Amino acid sequence: MRKLFERLYKKSSEDFYKEMYENLKNNKKEFIVTANPETFMKSLEDKEIEKFLLDEKSTLVPDGIGIVKAAHMLDYDVKERIAGIDIATKLLEYGSKLHKKVYLFGSKQEVIDDMKNVIKKKYSGIELTGAKNGYEKDKDKVFLDIVSKKPDIVLVALGIPLQEKLIYKYLDKFEKGIFVGVGGSFDVISGHKKRAPKVFIKLNLEWLYRIMKEPSRLKRFYDSNVKFIFKVRKYK
Ligand code: UDP
Repeated sequence: MRKLFERLYKKSSEDFYKEMYENLKNNKKEFIVTANPETFMKSLEDKEIEKFLLDEKSTLVPDGIGIVKAAHMLDYDVKERIAGIDIATKLLEYGSKLHKKVYLFGSKQEVIDDMKNVIKKKYSGIELTGAKNGYEKDKDKVFLDIVSKKPDIVLVALGIPLQEKLIYKYLDKFEKGIFVGVGGSFDVISGHKKRAPKVFIKLNLEWLYRIMKEPSRLKRFYDSNVKFIFKVRKYK
């Protein structure tokens, strides 16, 4: 577990976005993993997850106050939370500014349709090279299509850990591109779901808002976040 914390991005979100912008501009390849307690916990039982978390090809970003607090408990100087949804939004903004090719994969068809509208209206500099819903059975087929399009930005919204596993499986087939698993971000960016009000975000209570809105998330929260904090205390 300590090795994972060592790999976490330590600097500010501002620094992170600057580096991401430069990487995009210079056609570098980057696999961004938005790490939260769920990812770390699952890696203890799943070697495939552990492998991509420890691979130097991936950048682990602390997405979730649970990870930031745990890092502080273990004396790692992690500056702040960098949320997956903010990374997704910034990438769309930068992609539009730099006239980059974007591929979207994941979420329901109606969400993907609205994502197309949002891109047309708000991020019109983007060339959308593909937009596929995440309920296609043959997800490898979609990835082969992504490879063939040579996009600059690939956002995969299938949930943890499937989105990261798929990206990692195909990463070597790409010469460039910024790759991120963005979970439920399309649901929010498309307007199908509301993000927590700013005050929740400011007080680091976005997780609470999500549980209040979707109580079925409570078990998932307990299994990952609560057990995680107990586990981390043992490493102290
Ligand atoms: N999803 C998908 N295909 C699936 C299962 C899930 O495209 O087979 C999508 C789902 O529609 C949602 C996203 O994956 O848009 C997962 O969102 P969730 O909020 O659970 O992710 P989190 O942000 O919590 O990781």
